[in-house]
Amino acid sequence: MLRVTGGQRRETGPDGEWVTRRISGAAAAKTYRCPGCHQEIPAGMPHVVAWRPYGDGEDRRHWHSSCWQRRAHLR
Ligand SMILES: [Zn+2]
Repeated sequence: MLRVTGGQRRETGPDGEWVTRRISGAAAAKTYRCPGCHQEIPAGMPHVVAWRPYGDGEDRRHWHSSCWQRRAHLR
C-alpha cells in the first residue's frame, strides 16, 4: 500500500478519468516501470501514480512525472 500523503487529484484525459498522486522521493521505495516510456523509475525518484477512480486499485500505474504530463499528446 502507498502511504497517503494527500495531494490527490482527479484528472480527465483523452483516455478517461484518472486519480493521480505525486510520490515523493522518500516515499518511492521500489523500482517501477513507466508505461509511458517503458523505462524504469528508480527507487527514490519522485514520480506520479495514477489509477482509475472506480475499480479495486489493481490498475495503478507509476509514471515519470514528465511522461504523465506528456501522455495526452501521444494518443
Ligand atoms: Zn517514463
